Amino acid sequence: MTATIERFDQLDLQAPILAALAEIGYETPSPIQAACIPHLLAGHDILGEAQTGTGKTAAFALPALDQVDINQRNPQVLVLTPTRELAIQVAEAFQRYASKMPGFHVLPIYGGQSMVVQLRQLQRGAHVVVGTPGRVMDHLERKSLNLEGLTTLILDEADEMLRMGFIDDVEWILEHTPTARQTALFSATMPDAIRRVAHRYLRDPKEIKIKAATATVSTIKQRFLQIAGPHKLDALTRILEVEDDFDAAIVFVRTKTATVELAEKLEARGYAAACLNGDMTQQLRERVIEQLKNETLDIVVATDVAARGIDVPRVSHVINYDIPYDTEAYVHRIGRTGRAGRNGNAILFVAPRETHLLRQIERATKQPIEPLKLPSREAVADKRVAAFRQQVSEVLASEDLGFFLDVIAAIEEKHDADVHTIAAALAFLAQKDRPLQMPDTGRPDIAQLAGGGKPERPTREARDNRSEILERRRDYAEGRLARYRIDVGREHMASPKDIVGAIANEAGIESRFIGQINLFEDYSTVELPSDLPNDVLQILRRARVRQQLLNIRLASPEEASRERGGRGAPPKKPFRKEGGFDKPACGFKARKPKP
Ligand code: ADP
Ligand code: MG
Repeated sequence: MTATIERFDQLDLQAPILAALAEIGYETPSPIQAACIPHLLAGHDILGEAQTGTGKTAAFALPALDQVDINQRNPQVLVLTPTRELAIQVAEAFQRYASKMPGFHVLPIYGGQSMVVQLRQLQRGAHVVVGTPGRVMDHLERKSLNLEGLTTLILDEADEMLRMGFIDDVEWILEHTPTARQTALFSATMPDAIRRVAHRYLRDPKEIKIKAATATVSTIKQRFLQIAGPHKLDALTRILEVEDDFDAAIVFVRTKTATVELAEKLEARGYAAACLNGDMTQQLRERVIEQLKNETLDIVVATDVAARGIDVPRVSHVINYDIPYDTEAYVHRIGRTGRAGRNGNAILFVAPRETHLLRQIERATKQPIEPLKLPSREAVADKRVAAFRQQVSEVLASEDLGFFLDVIAAIEEKHDADVHTIAAALAFLAQKDRPLQMPDTGRPDIAQLAGGGKPERPTREARDNRSEILERRRDYAEGRLARYRIDVGREHMASPKDIVGAIANEAGIESRFIGQINLFEDYSTVELPSDLPNDVLQILRRARVRQQLLNIRLASPEEASRERGGRGAPPKKPFRKEGGFDKPACGFKARKPKP
């Protein structure tokens, strides 16, 4: 049974593939991988349903690679993806998984890329071709793509291909490939049209649906924090510091490498932390657990497998630093706290692109996960001061201070300072190693960028520190908006609504601060506050519309002055959000928690 697969080496994959996975740091197959890989290796067709981010690429890429004959230069595997971005991503994944297979070639082909270059590359030969349906069809018609040797055809994100109107192309391709092939169809949802295609072209497919519903424990308080990757570490340390009932934590990450890195970073920040992963010997792992029990350690950074079944009652917090693949993993993880009748806390970090996973977990566990308000710098300082006062009052209550009173009396006399000032000097000394105040980095407080909390205006300092943007700043509309370029346009079937939606959701910029949008063939320009902080730009750079990476940057003067409808399709109706321009420019705010 697939349910017992916990390690990649339990799958019948070639040694070079296992070696590559070990190097990448994947520890355990995700559920869709554990369920699909054995069937695909056995030659079955697959109809797989699983959300984004669950590891579908490796689920089909690993068994496909396993079957590749390196000496055969004609394509043996064809993957169809809805967008060019995805084609590149999937091709890169193949390359990574095949890093220990010398001579292996994967070729992404998509529209917009030079046909001449593609023809040359195809002639040189590739074991795996990853392409968008339109371009693959082109090549098949030109006979520049020879699929006679094809053994495996994979449809990735089939529902997206349907949504984008590619389904006829996909069927055409299915009809023009050898019928003896193995076919795998993956989709986040299973609309009827996809099911029909599957029935028509797949042979007795194994249906795999990854969903899990396990009840969580009501003694565990579950919260989430919407936070982008680069801020996770700061968010984590801040949470650890202000949580009232904190005793010990298990922090979950996705890879073995990440356990080591994060544990080191926490140690460097003064926490008693260690990693726990499948590379460690049983003995070493047991020692870590023992140290967590006897309070030598307070934080253990672990992968799912390594932490399975850990039972340490003092674990007050489970932090899902990387979101788990599925509900079942989530339930397993948070079950490490709230043990032995105690109350537990589960905190889930959700990156901007992972909101759907959060909803999925909530739906499956039938329990709402509350937004967590990340404490501000000031709140952290207050907390530290309160702890300090507590320490002082304990000393006042219990220690015999006779000797120290004499010391102070001597200082008072010698320096002619009043007792308050001397006390302040001593307080300064006492906090030197662990300062009471949080350092001001000059950047906006992450408490303002993280979602799940009350929106706050950026502070004065934050706005003064927009060096890079300020330099290149171009002012529009009363000096408040600048025109940015994003790499998504009409050819990606993007609409202004999609763009506003993505910007509003991903970066938490209210739509009233989003100005005019001009759509061109393969990019668009959009007016946004000219002083967007770097952190927000970072998030937007990685955001996607119609699967296309936005890669946002300030538009060149040429791009900025270009009007809509230059060529091709008739210009779309002008789109302009009214009323946003006289408001303060820095309108970004934390995303609203879901109702
Ligand atoms: P999907 O296609 O389902 O959206 P991806 O294949 O893109 O998901 O995988 C999502 C992320 O998870 C990628 O960063 C990938 O490297 C990572 N990942 C996939 N499988 C594993 C695994 N077994 N262990 C750790 N990380 C994994
Ligand atoms: Mg995918």
